[in-house]
Amino acid sequence: MTCATGAQKSARPTGNDYRQCSFWLETAEEELVPRPSLGGPAEADVAILGAGFTGLWTAYYLLRREPSLRVVVLEAEIAGFGASGRNGAWCNSAFPVSPGELARRFGREAARELLLEMRGAVEEVGRVARVEGIDAQYFPGGQLRVARGPAQVPGIKDAYEAARALGLEEDLRLLDAEETARRVRITGAGGALYNPHCATVHPARLTRGLARAVERLGGEIFEQTPVTDYEARKGTGGGPRLVTRAGEVRARTVVLAGEAYLARLRKLRRQVLPIYSLIVLTEPLSETRWAEIGWEGRECVASNRYTVDYLSRTADGRILFGGRGAPYHYGSRIEDEYDRHDPTHEMLRQTARDWFPTLKGVRFTHAWGGPLAMPRDWMPTMSHDPASGVATARGYTGQGVATANLSGRTLADLILCRDTAITRLPTVNHEPRPWEPEPLRWLGARYVQRGLMRVDDRAERTGKPPTGKTLAERLGRH
Ligand SMILES: Cc1cc2nc3c(=O)[nH]c(=O)nc-3n(C[C@H](O)[C@H](O)[C@H](O)COP(=O)(O)OP(=O)(O)OC[C@H]3O[C@@H](n4cnc5c(N)ncnc54)[C@H](O)[C@@H]3O)c2cc1C
Repeated sequence: MTCATGAQKSARPTGNDYRQCSFWLETAEEELVPRPSLGGPAEADVAILGAGFTGLWTAYYLLRREPSLRVVVLEAEIAGFGASGRNGAWCNSAFPVSPGELARRFGREAARELLLEMRGAVEEVGRVARVEGIDAQYFPGGQLRVARGPAQVPGIKDAYEAARALGLEEDLRLLDAEETARRVRITGAGGALYNPHCATVHPARLTRGLARAVERLGGEIFEQTPVTDYEARKGTGGGPRLVTRAGEVRARTVVLAGEAYLARLRKLRRQVLPIYSLIVLTEPLSETRWAEIGWEGRECVASNRYTVDYLSRTADGRILFGGRGAPYHYGSRIEDEYDRHDPTHEMLRQTARDWFPTLKGVRFTHAWGGPLAMPRDWMPTMSHDPASGVATARGYTGQGVATANLSGRTLADLILCRDTAITRLPTVNHEPRPWEPEPLRWLGARYVQRGLMRVDDRAERTGKPPTGKTLAERLGRH
């Protein structure tokens, strides 16, 4: 099932086309009729590019804090079109950079503060969904990082020790094989690390509900309005602005919240690497099959592979299985047709059956995907430069559902010149170095992708944990 919008570039996509982008948009329980596009030049206090979680949380907190602000959001497609309406449903306190690496780069206290804020973000998403009446199916079931096979057992122990080094281990639990099986029965699971700070959500309902909350607060959202460029403030001669074919939106601050799609803007081409994450989804399973699998706690589940897998159990009793095997595309290209990659989708179906043999004979009803943004050092940025009037938050490397909430609050505080605990986090005004120009970028990305696959395969075959010393592991370390 490919997102149909790509096939219809000449016509304006309708709600039905957008339903095909993901199971989540299909079951958003609304028509997905695009909001009106921008009709001509406009002025605002804050103009935001992108109606995904980052743009909408930023608009939401700005308007909660300063109801008189004029906040305008420009979205190329519809709210939730991007990763926010397509993801694996994890609202997770894990951060793209590992705790040990965070401590090494920014010091123990800064790492600890950041990870505590991430835990707070998971709760905050649930709180806002509740107070705004968003039926986001928020379910705080926690997360299980499962060691599939002996090679992965040291990895989960190391993860526990890294949390302990920061004094964050109190409510984490290392489970042995039996304790893991009491939660969920997975072939070859030798143990797991349980972390309660994680919830599942219905991502499209959350994004779309958030868009309506922003409008109730007075924010304006224009859809099917691509931003073709942006300008920073230049001395006294003209404020920052977002440029569209219908005209410019001039503002005191512009916010670039387009995540992977920012690579399409000439000025940001090398700031993020668009990597495709793909998902397959089963039909709702019978009660007999669920009795075999267990998983009553609906934890988010992943193994300890470098080449990322992520699973969730949906509210209507399906298994979602996601992973990152799809290839990077030369020149950081993003096309709707890349949302499908048959070999990767087939690999995910097979792996799901390997995890849960009871899935033999079960239909996989949906397959989709989308791009996520990877910065050069894996570290998300939440930044605001008052001189240029440009703010941005991006680079979540596939851990963006809760992180974008933290971004929204942080950008709102930065734009409103408030000095708070979150405006002092190491993500703030962090500037990763740009990715290499092509063809080096393509060569490097493909090399690391393939290298990490080989490392995982070897570990599974031999039962020996990865050494961490191969070139791919050193380049892909985070
Ligand atoms: C398949 C997949 C699975 C994932 N699973 C998880 C998960 O389980 N848990 C997790 O935490 N994270 C996950 N992620 C990542 C997470 O979904 C994202 O990090 C998060 O949604 C990013 O939100 P965002 O608003 O920054 O970006 P997006 O949701 O991508 O939104 C950006 C928006 O900006 C719009 N836009 C872009 N460029 C322009 C322009 N020039 N003009 C106007 N509008 C523009 C886009 O159309 C889009 O709507 C996953 C990502 C993918 C792709």
